[in-house]
Amino acid sequence: MRKLIDLHMHSTVSDGTYTPSELVRHAKEKGLSAIALTDHDTAGGVKEFLEEGKKQGIETIAGIEISSLFEGYPEIHVLGYFIDPENKDVMEKLNFLQDARKVRNIKLIARLKDLGFEVTWEELEKEANGQLIGRPHFAALMVKKGFVKDTNEAFSKYIGNDGLAFVPKEKLTTPEAVSFLFENGIVPVLAHPILIGMNTNDLIDFIILLKKSGLQGLEVIHSEIPEKESRKYLELAYRFNLVPTGGSDFHGENKPYVKMGVPEVPYDFFIKLKERKRDMFSIMETRKL
Ligand code: AMP
Ligand code: FE
Ligand code: FE
Ligand code: ZN
Repeated sequence: MRKLIDLHMHSTVSDGTYTPSELVRHAKEKGLSAIALTDHDTAGGVKEFLEEGKKQGIETIAGIEISSLFEGYPEIHVLGYFIDPENKDVMEKLNFLQDARKVRNIKLIARLKDLGFEVTWEELEKEANGQLIGRPHFAALMVKKGFVKDTNEAFSKYIGNDGLAFVPKEKLTTPEAVSFLFENGIVPVLAHPILIGMNTNDLIDFIILLKKSGLQGLEVIHSEIPEKESRKYLELAYRFNLVPTGGSDFHGENKPYVKMGVPEVPYDFFIKLKERKRDMFSIMETRKL
């Protein structure tokens, strides 16, 4: 049987509905050979994920997905692979991403209040039930409190990127996010390039720019990339000596149409990613010369 992997998934620590251990067990049931946890802006779940991986005998990578911005593009995702959860320095530096979210949430509460919708921190915490508080929790609360009829209305009228109450989150720029990962020995990969919305020429310029900050990979297979496009991205990866990666972007019941392990990602990508991690130290040393 062909060995398959899934290098992009979210747990309850960010906005998924499976705990890190449940993700590992689900992957085991699906017969996957290697998986990576890539929660948004947090590595809080990776320890549990790695431990369960050992128990279940499935290869696991500790990862993260950082939201960044670049010029006219407010939401560009960078995946980082091989975070060391024992490295206190790195784990602490990652806290600034969560602080930015907290500040945004506080501002969003104030904006909603000005519009006549009272949502409190306590209510949000209860709604989030241990997850990082995000806009989906604001939306759910607004529905529960009868301010809007459904989450769609909450986003389209108020808290979506074009909504009346929208408050941007303080973010790193994409080159900053890539450098941050690279300098800490975490392999930076540009996530789901199709969702950036750049034309191919601009994407190529962007890749060339990000390579200067240490970009090492390109996510060429993803649940939102049609197969034909995957081939195009794979060619780009080879052309720019980037490791091709792939994953479903599984969020459990929060995105019920996305299944773990779909589309299929070859095991070979995992081998290449591990090799790149191994080579990164010498790449870093060479760059310092
Ligand atoms: P946050 O990280 O708190 O800014 O929230 C981002 C999350 O909100 C995304 O991961 C989506 O799950 C959700 N989201 C963003 N825009 C929309 C939208 N227009 N409709 C529904 N959900 C959305
Ligand atoms: Fe998400
Ligand atoms: Fe993403
Ligand atoms: Zn994701």
